[in-house]
Amino acid sequence: MLYIDSISKGIVIDHISPGRGFRIFQYLELDKSDFTVALIMNAPSKKQGRKDVIKIENNIDLDLRVLGIIDPTVTVNIIRNEKIVEKIKLSPPEKVEGVIKCKNPRCVTSTEKNVTQSFSLLDKEELSYKCDYCDHIFNWEV
Ligand SMILES: [Zn+2]
Repeated sequence: MLYIDSISKGIVIDHISPGRGFRIFQYLELDKSDFTVALIMNAPSKKQGRKDVIKIENNIDLDLRVLGIIDPTVTVNIIRNEKIVEKIKLSPPEKVEGVIKCKNPRCVTSTEKNVTQSFSLLDKEELSYKCDYCDHIFNWEV
């Protein structure tokens, strides 16, 4: 609750695994935003020990699917009039199309221009995905 006090309207991305906040921040291109944003790293958390938090003082369109791929532990809070009006829990999607890129240079999605990247969830805990075309494993940590 401490961290939403100063925000009257917008989005708070809470319970981000420590270290993943910056990745989400970059993915959402918040460094280019012209409204108030805050990335809080290693905030104390009762649930996790430590967590990252992102506060966005604006209503932007969030691709929740992408957030679920980057870090499914996060909770997205929608704030209006200094109150949480919606709490969204995420989960990693089973299928991802056109979001992450296959790193195999010989994959058809790398060699052909018009093939949409397509991945299937392989491991929920490790957040790894398998390319549907070449079986190459995608993992954020590598
Ligand atoms: Zn591939």
